[in-house]
Amino acid sequence: MAVAASQIKIPGELLPSDGRFGSGPSKVRVESVESLLGVAKTYLGTSHRQKTVKDVVGRLRVGLKDLFSLPDGYEVILGNGGATYFWDAATFSLIERRSLHLSFGEFSSKFAQAAEAAPHIESPVVIKSETGSHPVAVVQDGIDAYALTHNETSTGVSMPIERPTGSEGLVLVDGTSGAGGLRVDPNEFDCYYFSPQKCFASDGGLYVALVSPAAADRIKRISASGRWIPASMDLAVTLENSLLDQTYNTPALATIHMFLSQLEWMLENGGLEFAASRSDASAENLYGWAEKSDYATPYVSVPAMRSHVVGTIDFDPSVDHAQVAKVLRANGIVDVEPYRKLGRNQLRIAMFPAIDPDDVQALTECIDFVVSAISE
Ligand SMILES: *Cc1c(COP(=O)(O)O)cnc(C)c1O
Repeated sequence: MAVAASQIKIPGELLPSDGRFGSGPSKVRVESVESLLGVAKTYLGTSHRQKTVKDVVGRLRVGLKDLFSLPDGYEVILGNGGATYFWDAATFSLIERRSLHLSFGEFSSKFAQAAEAAPHIESPVVIKSETGSHPVAVVQDGIDAYALTHNETSTGVSMPIERPTGSEGLVLVDGTSGAGGLRVDPNEFDCYYFSPQKCFASDGGLYVALVSPAAADRIKRISASGRWIPASMDLAVTLENSLLDQTYNTPALATIHMFLSQLEWMLENGGLEFAASRSDASAENLYGWAEKSDYATPYVSVPAMRSHVVGTIDFDPSVDHAQVAKVLRANGIVDVEPYRKLGRNQLRIAMFPAIDPDDVQALTECIDFVVSAISE
């Protein structure tokens, strides 16, 4: 007879040191929160138009240039609203007439939908692939923006970022869950945008974009062209404020501080190579376990497409993922449920740089323990 989920207690020595494996909001390092306490009376609750906060925003912008080895002329811009808001802003400020989108999951399809819905640009070209894989961009006439996604968080598929051969359009990359955990060459993009609640282990609400000179020119040109753009969505306004280390309207100061704390932790330890290597080690632990398991399999069949920052693991029909996730949750291991709309019998596990590869290893042992306890 099946054991009641609430009665299964995972032995303490098997548990990871931290039970947060969600894909966003994701694990925030305790050190970042502690350092926030250190500036509780000098930084929190002070004006974002004054030096104290502007210095922090300035360090963030310089630090990101460093982390991503941005070539001269690239700018780091930031504003409120997160990556979702950025899609809408991009339909105004980055897509001139027509975009092409690679659509291979929930997030990548959403930007395509935003472009489709925008009345001031033409219907986009959308190239799709089966979920669990990614399509390849094909250059087409009349396309001025190619929309790629570094890591499709809903399925655990990542793709290398490369300019489509022969393209003259801007390359716009949704780097939301990949930025800071996957390697990327800035020469291959014109705009790499993300939110800080994933690899940057902070809170949501903010968007950051790394923009090339060509993208900055496009932003300024469209803004001056007379196209109607709501001011909060006009990236020319974002650019202007960002160059002054400010945002157009009030940002969440705690988010910015924790973001900087995570960024400086990465930089002090060796930069993007350090961060990506942590995720590589976690991915090796996760997929290596699943490959050997007799009830778990990596959902993404092509190894090169398996994300090193968000892993998806399918279960044999004899194992109910929902029950496993419930027992894990009761034992303090949270947010490994699959992406709701994918609807598969699987677990989704974040492997962002803040997450200790040993904890991913411990998680796999906990899953084995729970599955064997449930089947008893
Ligand atoms: C999380 C995520 C988003 C949405 O980010 P928000 O900050 O919630 O708007 C967009 N794209 C990808 C790839 C994501 O992982």
